[in-house]
Amino acid sequence: MNDPYSWQVPQLEQLRHHLLKQDLAHAYLIDDPAGEGSQGFVRALASTILCEQTQLGGCSSCSSCQLQSAGSHSDLLWVMPEDSKQIKIEQIRSVIEWSHQTPQQGRAKVLVLDPADRMNVYATNSLLKLLEEPAPNTYLFLISTSPARLLPTIRSRCQRLNLSTPTDEEGLRWLRETRPDADPELLQDVYAITGYKPISAQALFDSEQVAQRLAMVAALTEWLKGYCGPIETAKKLAAKEMPSLPYELLYRAAASAQRQQVLPQANRRGVFQALIDELAGRWSTKALSRLAEACGKARSLSGASNNLNAELSLEHFLMTQKEPV
Ligand SMILES: [Zn+2]
Repeated sequence: MNDPYSWQVPQLEQLRHHLLKQDLAHAYLIDDPAGEGSQGFVRALASTILCEQTQLGGCSSCSSCQLQSAGSHSDLLWVMPEDSKQIKIEQIRSVIEWSHQTPQQGRAKVLVLDPADRMNVYATNSLLKLLEEPAPNTYLFLISTSPARLLPTIRSRCQRLNLSTPTDEEGLRWLRETRPDADPELLQDVYAITGYKPISAQALFDSEQVAQRLAMVAALTEWLKGYCGPIETAKKLAAKEMPSLPYELLYRAAASAQRQQVLPQANRRGVFQALIDELAGRWSTKALSRLAEACGKARSLSGASNNLNAELSLEHFLMTQKEPV
Protein backbone atom coordinates (compact mmCIF):
# COMPACT_ATOMS: atom_id res chain seq x y z
CA MET A 1 0.00 0.00 0.00
CA ASN A 2 2.78 2.43 0.86
CA ASP A 3 4.98 0.99 -1.83
CA PRO A 4 8.54 2.12 -1.27
CA TYR A 5 10.70 3.60 -4.02
CA SER A 6 12.76 0.79 -5.55
CA TRP A 7 16.11 2.26 -4.47
CA GLN A 8 14.96 2.42 -0.85
CA VAL A 9 13.99 -1.24 -0.56
CA PRO A 10 17.35 -2.61 0.70
CA GLN A 11 17.50 -0.03 3.50
CA LEU A 12 13.88 -0.70 4.46
CA GLU A 13 14.44 -4.46 4.43
CA GLN A 14 17.34 -4.01 6.80
CA LEU A 15 15.20 -2.00 9.22
CA ARG A 16 12.40 -4.55 8.96
CA HIS A 17 14.94 -7.21 9.87
CA HIS A 18 15.85 -5.22 13.02
CA LEU A 19 12.17 -4.83 13.82
CA LEU A 20 11.62 -8.58 13.60
CA LYS A 21 14.63 -9.18 15.84
CA GLN A 22 13.21 -6.53 18.19
CA ASP A 23 16.32 -4.43 18.07
CA LEU A 24 15.09 -1.49 16.04
CA ALA A 25 16.44 1.71 17.61
CA HIS A 26 13.75 3.84 19.23
CA ALA A 27 14.83 7.03 17.47
CA TYR A 28 16.23 7.59 13.99
CA LEU A 29 17.45 10.74 12.37
CA ILE A 30 16.69 10.42 8.67
CA ASP A 31 19.27 12.47 6.79
CA ASP A 32 17.82 13.48 3.43
CA PRO A 33 20.29 15.92 1.85
CA ALA A 34 18.61 15.68 -1.58
CA GLY A 35 15.37 16.86 -0.02
CA GLU A 36 13.23 14.17 -1.54
CA GLY A 37 12.22 10.63 -0.73
CA SER A 38 12.29 10.83 3.06
CA GLN A 39 8.53 11.14 3.46
CA GLY A 40 7.88 8.13 1.25
CA PHE A 41 10.58 6.23 3.08
CA VAL A 42 9.13 6.95 6.53
CA ARG A 43 5.58 6.27 5.32
CA ALA A 44 6.65 2.83 4.07
CA LEU A 45 8.56 2.19 7.28
CA ALA A 46 5.67 3.25 9.51
CA SER A 47 3.35 0.97 7.54
CA THR A 48 5.78 -1.91 8.04
CA ILE A 49 6.00 -1.29 11.79
CA LEU A 50 2.26 -0.98 12.27
CA CYS A 51 1.17 -3.75 9.89
CA GLU A 52 -0.01 -6.90 11.67
CA GLN A 53 1.93 -9.00 9.14
CA THR A 54 5.03 -6.72 9.34
CA GLN A 55 4.93 -6.68 5.56
CA LEU A 56 7.23 -4.20 3.86
CA GLY A 57 5.15 -1.13 3.11
CA GLY A 58 2.10 -2.76 4.74
CA CYS A 59 -0.17 -5.63 3.63
CA SER A 60 -3.15 -3.32 2.91
CA SER A 61 -5.63 -5.86 4.32
CA CYS A 62 -5.10 -5.97 8.10
CA SER A 63 -7.09 -3.57 10.26
CA SER A 64 -4.01 -1.50 11.02
CA CYS A 65 -3.21 -1.03 7.33
CA GLN A 66 -6.81 -0.15 6.59
CA LEU A 67 -6.82 2.50 9.29
CA GLN A 68 -3.66 3.90 7.78
CA SER A 69 -5.14 4.02 4.28
CA ALA A 70 -8.07 5.92 5.73
CA GLY A 71 -5.60 8.34 7.32
CA SER A 72 -7.03 7.68 10.75
CA HIS A 73 -4.48 5.49 12.52
CA SER A 74 -4.21 6.82 16.05
CA ASP A 75 -0.82 5.14 16.61
CA LEU A 76 0.81 7.15 13.86
CA LEU A 77 1.50 10.79 14.57
CA TRP A 78 3.05 12.98 11.88
CA VAL A 79 4.07 16.38 13.24
CA MET A 80 4.78 19.25 10.87
CA PRO A 81 5.44 22.96 11.48
CA GLU A 82 2.44 25.12 12.23
CA ASP A 83 1.82 27.71 9.53
CA SER A 84 4.72 25.95 7.75
CA LYS A 85 7.18 27.80 9.98
CA GLN A 86 8.04 26.18 13.30
CA ILE A 87 7.29 23.10 15.32
CA LYS A 88 6.28 24.60 18.65
CA ILE A 89 6.40 23.44 22.25
CA GLU A 90 2.62 22.96 22.43
CA GLN A 91 2.91 20.43 19.61
CA ILE A 92 5.66 18.52 21.41
CA ARG A 93 3.67 18.61 24.65
CA SER A 94 0.76 16.89 22.96
CA VAL A 95 3.22 14.46 21.41
CA ILE A 96 4.46 13.52 24.89
CA GLU A 97 0.91 13.07 26.08
CA TRP A 98 0.19 10.87 23.06
CA SER A 99 3.34 8.81 23.74
CA HIS A 100 2.06 7.90 27.22
CA GLN A 101 -1.13 6.35 25.85
CA THR A 102 -1.12 2.63 25.09
CA PRO A 103 -1.20 1.81 21.39
CA GLN A 104 -4.78 1.57 20.14
CA GLN A 105 -3.97 -1.33 17.88
CA GLY A 106 -1.82 -3.00 20.51
CA ARG A 107 1.40 -3.13 18.47
CA ALA A 108 3.55 -0.04 18.41
CA LYS A 109 3.42 3.68 17.90
CA VAL A 110 5.22 5.79 15.34
CA LEU A 111 6.03 9.45 15.67
CA VAL A 112 7.42 11.50 12.79
CA LEU A 113 8.85 15.00 13.06
CA ASP A 114 8.99 16.53 9.62
CA PRO A 115 11.25 18.44 9.31
CA ALA A 116 12.76 18.06 12.77
CA ASP A 117 15.09 21.03 12.28
CA ARG A 118 12.08 23.32 12.35
CA MET A 119 11.57 22.72 16.08
CA ASN A 120 12.11 25.89 18.03
CA VAL A 121 14.38 25.81 21.07
CA TYR A 122 11.55 25.19 23.55
CA ALA A 123 10.17 22.34 21.48
CA THR A 124 13.67 20.87 21.19
CA ASN A 125 14.19 20.89 24.95
CA SER A 126 10.82 19.32 25.47
CA LEU A 127 11.57 16.56 22.95
CA LEU A 128 14.83 15.75 24.74
CA LYS A 129 12.81 14.32 27.61
CA LEU A 130 11.08 11.93 25.25
CA LEU A 131 14.40 10.87 23.75
CA GLU A 132 15.94 10.34 27.17
CA GLU A 133 13.06 8.32 28.54
CA PRO A 134 11.62 6.55 25.51
CA ALA A 135 8.13 5.14 25.84
CA PRO A 136 8.05 1.38 25.15
CA ASN A 137 7.26 0.34 21.57
CA THR A 138 7.31 3.91 20.37
CA TYR A 139 9.51 4.72 17.40
CA LEU A 140 10.61 8.22 16.54
CA PHE A 141 11.68 9.37 13.10
CA LEU A 142 13.20 12.79 12.75
CA ILE A 143 13.39 13.88 9.13
CA SER A 144 15.88 16.56 8.13
CA THR A 145 17.57 17.86 5.00
CA SER A 146 20.16 19.59 7.18
CA PRO A 147 20.75 17.65 10.42
CA ALA A 148 23.55 20.07 11.37
CA ARG A 149 20.78 22.49 12.34
CA LEU A 150 19.66 20.16 15.11
CA LEU A 151 21.19 20.42 18.56
CA PRO A 152 24.01 17.91 19.18
CA THR A 153 22.07 16.64 22.19
CA ILE A 154 19.25 15.61 19.85
CA ARG A 155 21.56 14.16 17.21
CA SER A 156 23.49 12.08 19.73
CA ARG A 157 20.30 10.44 20.97
CA CYS A 158 19.21 9.26 17.55
CA GLN A 159 20.57 6.64 15.24
CA ARG A 160 21.65 8.38 12.03
CA LEU A 161 20.29 6.99 8.79
CA ASN A 162 21.60 8.39 5.51
CA LEU A 163 18.82 7.97 3.01
CA SER A 164 19.76 6.03 -0.13
CA THR A 165 19.58 7.93 -3.38
CA PRO A 166 19.27 6.31 -6.80
CA THR A 167 22.01 6.46 -9.41
CA ASP A 168 21.14 8.74 -12.35
CA GLU A 169 20.23 5.70 -14.42
CA GLU A 170 18.10 4.10 -11.70
CA GLY A 171 16.25 7.36 -11.16
CA LEU A 172 15.60 7.80 -14.87
CA ARG A 173 14.42 4.19 -15.22
CA TRP A 174 11.96 4.69 -12.36
CA LEU A 175 10.73 7.94 -13.89
CA ARG A 176 10.16 6.25 -17.26
CA GLU A 177 8.37 3.35 -15.62
CA THR A 178 6.02 5.65 -13.72
CA ARG A 179 5.27 7.78 -16.78
CA PRO A 180 5.36 5.19 -19.59
CA ASP A 181 3.43 7.32 -22.08
CA ALA A 182 5.65 10.36 -21.77
CA ASP A 183 8.10 11.45 -24.45
CA PRO A 184 11.40 9.92 -23.20
CA GLU A 185 13.43 12.92 -24.35
CA LEU A 186 11.18 15.31 -22.47
CA LEU A 187 11.36 13.18 -19.33
CA GLN A 188 15.15 13.14 -19.59
CA ASP A 189 15.15 16.94 -19.86
CA VAL A 190 12.87 17.38 -16.87
CA TYR A 191 15.01 14.95 -14.90
CA ALA A 192 18.18 16.96 -15.64
CA ILE A 193 16.45 20.28 -14.88
CA THR A 194 15.62 19.09 -11.35
CA GLY A 195 19.24 18.06 -10.75
CA TYR A 196 18.60 14.33 -11.38
CA LYS A 197 16.03 14.03 -8.63
CA PRO A 198 13.41 11.57 -9.86
CA ILE A 199 10.61 12.42 -7.42
CA SER A 200 10.95 16.16 -8.02
CA ALA A 201 11.16 15.47 -11.75
CA GLN A 202 7.90 13.53 -11.60
CA ALA A 203 6.19 16.40 -9.77
CA LEU A 204 7.53 18.96 -12.25
CA PHE A 205 6.53 16.81 -15.20
CA ASP A 206 2.98 16.57 -13.86
CA SER A 207 2.76 20.30 -13.25
CA GLU A 208 1.95 23.05 -15.69
CA GLN A 209 5.37 24.61 -15.29
CA VAL A 210 7.29 22.36 -17.67
CA ALA A 211 6.77 24.52 -20.75
CA GLN A 212 7.86 27.66 -18.90
CA ARG A 213 11.08 25.99 -17.71
CA LEU A 214 11.90 24.66 -21.15
CA ALA A 215 11.35 28.12 -22.66
CA MET A 216 13.77 29.53 -20.08
CA VAL A 217 16.34 26.87 -20.90
CA ALA A 218 16.02 27.69 -24.60
CA ALA A 219 16.47 31.43 -23.89
CA LEU A 220 19.60 30.74 -21.84
CA THR A 221 21.06 28.63 -24.66
CA GLU A 222 20.41 31.39 -27.21
CA TRP A 223 22.13 33.88 -24.95
CA LEU A 224 25.15 31.59 -24.47
CA LYS A 225 25.44 31.09 -28.21
CA GLY A 226 25.38 34.85 -28.70
CA TYR A 227 22.12 34.80 -30.69
CA CYS A 228 20.35 36.98 -28.17
CA GLY A 229 21.69 39.89 -26.07
CA PRO A 230 21.38 40.32 -22.28
CA ILE A 231 18.51 42.83 -22.42
CA GLU A 232 16.28 40.73 -24.62
CA THR A 233 17.22 37.53 -22.78
CA ALA A 234 16.44 39.11 -19.40
CA LYS A 235 13.04 40.10 -20.74
CA LYS A 236 12.33 36.48 -21.74
CA LEU A 237 13.63 35.11 -18.45
CA ALA A 238 12.07 37.43 -15.91
CA ALA A 239 9.59 35.22 -14.08
CA LYS A 240 7.92 37.39 -11.53
CA GLU A 241 6.56 34.59 -9.43
CA MET A 242 9.98 32.93 -9.12
CA PRO A 243 12.85 35.34 -9.79
CA SER A 244 15.45 32.81 -8.66
CA LEU A 245 14.50 30.29 -11.34
CA PRO A 246 16.81 31.41 -14.21
CA TYR A 247 19.82 31.35 -11.86
CA GLU A 248 18.74 27.97 -10.56
CA LEU A 249 18.55 26.54 -14.09
CA LEU A 250 21.89 28.00 -15.15
CA TYR A 251 23.45 26.76 -11.92
CA ARG A 252 22.23 23.21 -12.59
CA ALA A 253 23.44 23.39 -16.19
CA ALA A 254 26.89 24.62 -15.10
CA ALA A 255 27.15 21.86 -12.50
CA SER A 256 26.05 19.22 -15.02
CA ALA A 257 28.50 20.60 -17.60
CA GLN A 258 31.35 20.26 -15.10
CA ARG A 259 30.32 16.68 -14.48
CA GLN A 260 30.07 16.05 -18.21
CA GLN A 261 33.62 17.29 -18.78
CA VAL A 262 34.82 14.52 -16.46
CA LEU A 263 32.29 11.88 -17.46
CA PRO A 264 31.16 12.47 -21.04
CA GLN A 265 27.51 11.60 -21.60
CA ALA A 266 26.72 9.92 -24.87
CA ASN A 267 23.30 9.64 -26.50
CA ARG A 268 21.63 12.35 -24.48
CA ARG A 269 19.44 14.79 -26.27
CA GLY A 270 16.92 17.42 -25.40
CA VAL A 271 16.69 21.14 -24.73
CA PHE A 272 18.44 21.12 -21.38
CA GLN A 273 21.14 18.80 -22.71
CA ALA A 274 21.81 21.35 -25.47
CA LEU A 275 22.47 23.98 -22.80
CA ILE A 276 24.76 21.62 -20.90
CA ASP A 277 26.62 20.72 -24.13
CA GLU A 278 27.11 24.38 -24.96
CA LEU A 279 28.66 25.04 -21.56
CA ALA A 280 30.69 21.81 -21.41
CA GLY A 281 32.09 22.37 -24.91
CA ARG A 282 33.10 26.01 -24.71
CA TRP A 283 33.66 26.86 -21.06
CA SER A 284 36.67 25.76 -19.01
CA THR A 285 36.09 23.91 -15.75
CA LYS A 286 37.33 27.00 -13.92
CA ALA A 287 34.93 29.30 -15.79
CA LEU A 288 32.08 26.90 -15.04
CA SER A 289 32.94 26.97 -11.34
CA ARG A 290 32.85 30.76 -11.42
CA LEU A 291 29.55 30.74 -13.26
CA ALA A 292 28.02 28.27 -10.80
CA GLU A 293 29.23 30.40 -7.90
CA ALA A 294 27.81 33.58 -9.43
CA CYS A 295 24.50 31.81 -10.04
CA GLY A 296 24.41 30.62 -6.44
CA LYS A 297 24.95 34.17 -5.15
CA ALA A 298 22.41 35.71 -7.51
CA ARG A 299 19.91 33.00 -6.62
CA SER A 300 20.09 33.70 -2.89
CA LEU A 301 19.96 37.47 -3.46
CA SER A 302 16.88 37.14 -5.62
CA GLY A 303 15.24 35.04 -2.94
CA ALA A 304 16.15 37.37 -0.07
CA SER A 305 14.89 40.65 -1.45
CA ASN A 306 11.47 41.52 -2.76
CA ASN A 307 13.21 41.91 -6.05
CA LEU A 308 11.17 44.75 -7.41
CA ASN A 309 13.06 44.59 -10.61
CA ALA A 310 13.99 41.03 -11.41
CA GLU A 311 14.51 41.93 -15.03
CA LEU A 312 17.13 44.61 -14.29
CA SER A 313 19.01 42.29 -11.94
CA LEU A 314 19.01 39.60 -14.61
CA GLU A 315 20.25 42.03 -17.22
CA HIS A 316 23.12 43.01 -14.97
CA PHE A 317 23.92 39.37 -14.24
CA LEU A 318 23.97 38.37 -17.92
CA MET A 319 26.16 41.34 -18.82
CA THR A 320 28.75 40.42 -16.20
CA GLN A 321 28.85 36.74 -17.28
CA LYS A 322 29.94 37.48 -20.81
CA GLU A 323 32.51 35.30 -22.38
CA PRO A 324 33.88 31.94 -21.36
CA VAL A 325 37.57 31.87 -20.37
ZN1 LIG B 1 -1.09 -4.90 7.29
